[in-house]
Amino acid sequence: MVSAVHPGSDSAHLVYVSEGLAEIVGSSVSELLGQQPNAVFSQSTPTKQLDAVADLVGQGKQAAVQMALQTSSGTDLPVHATFLAIPSLSDGWPLYLSLFRVLGKPPAPQTSVMADPMVTFDQTEIFDALAHPGSLDDVVIHLAERTESLLDAGRVVMALAYAHQATSARFDLVRTAGFKPDLLADFFQTVRADQRLDEPTAIPVASLPLEAAIEFQNAGIQSLWLTPMLRNDTDVLGAVLVAHPERETPTESEQQLFNAVARLAVVAMDRSRREADLALRALHDPLTGLPNRDLMTDRLDQLIDIAKRNADGKNDDATVLSVVLVDIDRFKAFNDRHGSEAGDLVLAQTAQRLRSVLRIGDTIGRIGPDQFLVVCPGRRDEADAFASAEELRRVVLAPIDLADGSSPELTASVGVVMVQPDDELTPADVMSNAESAVEAAHDAGRDMVSVFDPELRRQLAARHELEAALKDAIADDELFLLYQPIIDVASGAMTGAEALVRWDRPGHGVLPPALFIDIAEDSGLIIDIGEWVIREAFRQIADWPERLAGGSPIVSVNLSARQLSHPSLLPTVTEAMEFYGVDPASIGFEVTESMKVEDLERASASLVELAALGCHLSIDDFGIGYATLDYLRRFHMAHTLKIDRSFVDGLGENREDTAIVSASITLAESLGLTVVAEGVETVEQLEYLHQLGADYAQGYLLSKPVELDDAHLLWHRATLIPGNAF
Ligand code: C2E
Ligand code: CA
Ligand code: CA
Repeated sequence: MVSAVHPGSDSAHLVYVSEGLAEIVGSSVSELLGQQPNAVFSQSTPTKQLDAVADLVGQGKQAAVQMALQTSSGTDLPVHATFLAIPSLSDGWPLYLSLFRVLGKPPAPQTSVMADPMVTFDQTEIFDALAHPGSLDDVVIHLAERTESLLDAGRVVMALAYAHQATSARFDLVRTAGFKPDLLADFFQTVRADQRLDEPTAIPVASLPLEAAIEFQNAGIQSLWLTPMLRNDTDVLGAVLVAHPERETPTESEQQLFNAVARLAVVAMDRSRREADLALRALHDPLTGLPNRDLMTDRLDQLIDIAKRNADGKNDDATVLSVVLVDIDRFKAFNDRHGSEAGDLVLAQTAQRLRSVLRIGDTIGRIGPDQFLVVCPGRRDEADAFASAEELRRVVLAPIDLADGSSPELTASVGVVMVQPDDELTPADVMSNAESAVEAAHDAGRDMVSVFDPELRRQLAARHELEAALKDAIADDELFLLYQPIIDVASGAMTGAEALVRWDRPGHGVLPPALFIDIAEDSGLIIDIGEWVIREAFRQIADWPERLAGGSPIVSVNLSARQLSHPSLLPTVTEAMEFYGVDPASIGFEVTESMKVEDLERASASLVELAALGCHLSIDDFGIGYATLDYLRRFHMAHTLKIDRSFVDGLGENREDTAIVSASITLAESLGLTVVAEGVETVEQLEYLHQLGADYAQGYLLSKPVELDDAHLLWHRATLIPGNAF
């Protein structure tokens, strides 16, 4: 909002009001024109404040205050107001110009001008231009045209230094008024070098270097009147240059006019600079100073366009662009552990490191909390793109020194997309392909580079679809349990069973856990699914003691690493146990041995508690994971070792497998653990296990996983060994 007033005058009135201001005040522009300035100020504005402002502005200074405007609804609207005096362009009478900016909002400046009644107002367009920020150039050109129209003769040149460092000798020639840009550029450079720009000066053309003098004289110019655009009386933001055909110097009122024009230009520049700052900030990430996702999308769009144009008519299948997405692994966890300040440090450092290895022409931006996108134009083959992606991955690895003295090392999953000229991909497509490639790198174990290929995308899409469907599987009652008997090797009788989940996915048939458990793990759905399995298993086995005539098979439920470190596990188990009235001694839990040691450490509290409840604990898949003696020591609360079926598979045929099974049994024995051999498919395998001293067995030879009722039937059989072999 903008306005102006004549100091000390009782009859001061508004001569310009921007539409926005009128709207806020709840009036129309025409109604407000001619009214007293108070018409827009809040009633609560202290007269003292207005007097102080009038005083300052009267001395030719700028006054900036916080005050309130009166709104149509009767409430006050707090604004930031800037007042300054500017002579009217027509007769030099001062106008009070006020710019209002609503506090807490991005500037949609509103304008009003108050003036002495004598003033014939002629600056509407300029104030309009100030109130409706368009381009700064437009405002400045407007000012020049206005000035020219008020002069008897002469041409007005406008030069701005705003786009450059204050020390730069370069000016942007916004209006050349028909002069050659080179001539003007040389002229401004000379006056700037001579430091003749701190106050208005008149320079006779004859005093210029010969070449310039001749050129100006040929253009019919005698004198050049220069008025600097100054901020705080010192910073030169530009200059108004009037080239006059006759007179050596301007009249006093002409000079006043030029001063007014210069001041208005500075106001316009301040405004546009603020807008430019805001615009810039909106497009950059404040933490790293890098372009944000919006700006990167824009750049990517431009680069794709340029690349396409370059590729036209040339080699059709040449890659015109490679795009690399760097995603810091486990950043969220890092942030949680070390605090967001440390997280910010990591991001800022990473941004800097990534930037340091870019090649000329590459563009980098931060497009997600822990994601940096690098666009490399003209990287033509995949090997080259891969090499630079590798370099980007490696710079992330170096340790980062934190305030707490630690120096954690982070890794990154990096995705590469090659953009071909005929791909017809939008920037959003490219980014999402890059994300798919990152996801692939992530799934393959993180800390690596993966190049996008469309097949991968199809797989990922199928995976996302599956994940979405899995979310509803519990609510839609699509999960069910099968039970696979575990037998006593010596007698062949069933002593327990393992509960195994299945998903009857509509349109896809019954899916085995291999097709969805990993995805459930990654997405966190495993918590809900795991809780469902526990409750369902407990519910189903609650009546076993009666149905099985006093027998008490141990029914085992599989637990994933994520479940074990989740706080809901123990409450779920104890509540379900109580609710269904199952005996803890008839319940077992299997924890896979492929679980990482860190995970196991976090989980060991839960394991101790489960054991304390009286539940049976098994180390599942023994032999394939991180099997170390230390690992077994940490797993001291376990009762059983389940030897993975991949070893049982080669039993008696493959020497290594046989040795491993044999050693595992001996080891288990010495640690006081019983042994279950998994995946027993042949009588020979079972016989061999018997010889080696394995206690229990599980496998298709004895029974596939079966429905609950079938498991009951199997329980009543004396032996599950076919032909009752031994
Ligand atoms: P696991 O714990 O090792 O379970 C044994 C798997 O081996 C089962 O596959 C079973 O059907 C299969 N199997 C049993 N005997 C034989 C045999 O003689 N030959 C062959 N080739 N395979 C045999 P399933 O049911 O597909 O389960 C696969 C894995 O999924 C399980 O491996 C377990 O890690 C996981 N899983 C199953 N149910 C659950 C569950 O409720 N929760 C969690 N977290 N994981 C589960
Ligand atoms: Ca198992
Ligand atoms: Ca197993």
